[in-house]
Amino acid sequence: MGKYRCYYCERETDSVRQITFFQGKQDRDELLCDTCHADWIESLKSEP
Ligand SMILES: [Zn+2]
Repeated sequence: MGKYRCYYCERETDSVRQITFFQGKQDRDELLCDTCHADWIESLKSEP
């Protein structure tokens, strides 16, 4: 059992990374596991 739950895959994990989504003018902080965080970074890189 992890202490946190990943925002994206909803897996429980002890190791999370905080990211910030920008939605319009609002920022939202969410927690991602290492795997989803890596995917998220990749998706940022692929954007123009
Ligand atoms: Zn995840």
